[in-house]
Amino acid sequence: MAKMKVAQVPKPGADFEIVEREIPSPTAGHVRIRVQACGICHSDFITKEGLFPGIQYPRAPGHEVAGVIDDVGAGVTGWKKGQRVGVGWHGGQDGTCIACRRGDFANCLNLKIPGISYDGGYQEYMLAPVEALAAMPESLDPAEASPLMCAGITTFNALRHSGAMPADLVAVQGVGGLGHLGIQFASKFGYKVAAIGRGPENAALARKLGAHVYIDSKELTGGLGLNGKLVIVGAPSEPIEVSPLQLLFGRRSVKGWSSGIPTDSEDTLRFAELTGVRPMIEKYPLEKAGEAYARMMSGKAEFRVVLTM
Ligand SMILES: [Zn+2]
Ligand SMILES: [Zn+2]
Repeated sequence: MAKMKVAQVPKPGADFEIVEREIPSPTAGHVRIRVQACGICHSDFITKEGLFPGIQYPRAPGHEVAGVIDDVGAGVTGWKKGQRVGVGWHGGQDGTCIACRRGDFANCLNLKIPGISYDGGYQEYMLAPVEALAAMPESLDPAEASPLMCAGITTFNALRHSGAMPADLVAVQGVGGLGHLGIQFASKFGYKVAAIGRGPENAALARKLGAHVYIDSKELTGGLGLNGKLVIVGAPSEPIEVSPLQLLFGRRSVKGWSSGIPTDSEDTLRFAELTGVRPMIEKYPLEKAGEAYARMMSGKAEFRVVLTM
């Protein structure tokens, strides 16, 4: 059997190791993807540190995958060898739980997550169920497309479901991995975009990405307008403090939004292709997964770190 390189976490909290494994054959309902690029998302620390119940180790993280279908398993229809695809956070639904029965696959109670439920994109080849696949436009560069599979779809989907209409004022808090994409999408959606960053350094960049206004968070007080909505897309561990009065008066609200399903990814990719929205990336070869992961965790990367194969 031919071999492939895998960057795996041997056990919770351990450093990455590069190993060789046999290239697996796709099982029924699955395809094998030759991974071209995989973005490193902050959520990969869930796998790295063992923060999700039931993760089996060793495990290769990675849910920002861009690649090409290399082989298809039994019963796979509608996908073929040589087709470009992406895989994001949505790694497959069970199709039978109460959410799935209502067609709400994103909220599947038994959602599979690549890199957590099964080996993700930190390897040269990965297996994925067809429920996880998004068709990838030919024109997109794999390394630039991969962060769109998590950071991209999350900001795109949260914004388009936020209720904001063209010309509405939308503030994007943070000019980072998610924020630098959020600013671009919000601008292309036709919103008036205010970027909120820490300190004055990112003002010029935020404007270049499409922000109309830049606000230093140190100078910010309050912020939500009447009927305003705060949509949370990042996942820091600290709780959010909100006074009931802040919500009552002005009828303001707070809600969360995470990712979406593969057809949402396809919309994200198509929109990026149409409008030129692209992530800013730093590329590392798969063999340097440990260094690349540390770079992402440092918070200094501008702005997404991508492994290339
Ligand atoms: Zn992610
Ligand atoms: Zn389900």
